[in-house]
Amino acid sequence: MSDKSMAPSLEPRVASPAPATTSVARAYAAQAPDSRLAPFQIERRALRPRDVQVEILYCGVCHSDIHMARNEWGQTIYPVVPGHEIVGRVTAVGDKVTKFQTGDLAGVGCLVDSCRQCSNCRKGLEQYCKVGNVLTYSARDRISGDITYGGYSKQIVVDEDFVLRVSDKLPLAEVAPLLCAGITTYSPLRHWNVGKGHKLGVIGLGGLGHMAVKLGASFGAEVTMLSTSREKEEDARRLGAHKFALTRDAARLKELAGYFDFIIDTVSAKHDYNQYLHLLATDGVMICVGAPPTPAEVAVFSLIGGRRSLAGSGIGGLPETQEMLDYCAEHGITSDIELIDIAYINEAYERMLKSDVRYRFVIDMASLT
Ligand code: NAP
Ligand code: ZN
Ligand code: ZN
Repeated sequence: MSDKSMAPSLEPRVASPAPATTSVARAYAAQAPDSRLAPFQIERRALRPRDVQVEILYCGVCHSDIHMARNEWGQTIYPVVPGHEIVGRVTAVGDKVTKFQTGDLAGVGCLVDSCRQCSNCRKGLEQYCKVGNVLTYSARDRISGDITYGGYSKQIVVDEDFVLRVSDKLPLAEVAPLLCAGITTYSPLRHWNVGKGHKLGVIGLGGLGHMAVKLGASFGAEVTMLSTSREKEEDARRLGAHKFALTRDAARLKELAGYFDFIIDTVSAKHDYNQYLHLLATDGVMICVGAPPTPAEVAVFSLIGGRRSLAGSGIGGLPETQEMLDYCAEHGITSDIELIDIAYINEAYERMLKSDVRYRFVIDMASLT
């Protein structure tokens, strides 16, 4: 995290009485794996000394929201209020808060707490907290044990250590998806130092995929989009991809055998990893960020031939998320979005399941009345 972004503001603090009691917020929730999302009322906790209350203005719709709303990963606690691509404005702060004041823009991503003491937390890798981090929704608060509720709601209360600074230079609705899709692709690209001189393949042009294309190209890699949707080719190139390959075209995939230094796999549904591992060059790495609920078979010969690696990466820690937001603000990188009313959320899910997303749905929370 840059020193600048973490430094307490030197400007005078605007007095803002922190709510001493819980507050009620409108939200959308799923009550069971097969139920549609519908209006629901939730309670947000009374502000603790280091809590920030954020009025949510926009929330991105991640495919993980669908996996979780439908309990596809087997970990959902109902009722579930999804949403972990949150941007909004600070409306109140606890009396020990130093990073934010009322009126500031703020973001909340996939995490709202972690143990803060294990070796990973101390390195800023809260997503790999050894004790167990606390997800923004469908998890248990470490202190109260209450269910955490996500961003499909009017406001949220989060410890300031898990709240991000958001630039006012970029359109706020387009910034929201950076809080998950952005960091989930930024983190592995940085970890493996993907950049100039590398050939990067991105599988799946959805929310994560389109950010991987933008960021990979911005880091200087030659980016090839590997997609099942021919009609996305023009967009892929506009987003920054240098090449496009239709993955249903066996002849085209054969041409790309042994081609890539890195592949980022963002696919949300079951698919054949071996088909893509063969596209890696010697010592190439395929990084799975897409998280299909069902396991897939990997033939070891896909790896042995060419000393290839199959890797995974989970979101990003708080310092790196801030670094990514600052990088995007500096380079003018945002998500390509379709702004929706919250009442459209069930249709948006159905469209995402048909790969019909360009390239992130973002909920305008003003529509939640
Ligand atoms: P998304 O917007 O729905 O995009 C997924 C894309 O994958 C689709 O647009 C489609 O692209 C492709 N695809 C879908 N079904 C496919 C299939 N059967 N075979 C091949 N390609 C297929 O989803 P997202 O929000 O980007 O999320 C993608 C996955 O990442 C989800 O599983 C999500 O849970 C996971 N995720 C993981 C992390 C992490 O920390 N690792 C963080 C966030 C999300 P084309 O039309 O181009 O083929
Ligand atoms: Zn997500
Ligand atoms: Zn920890």
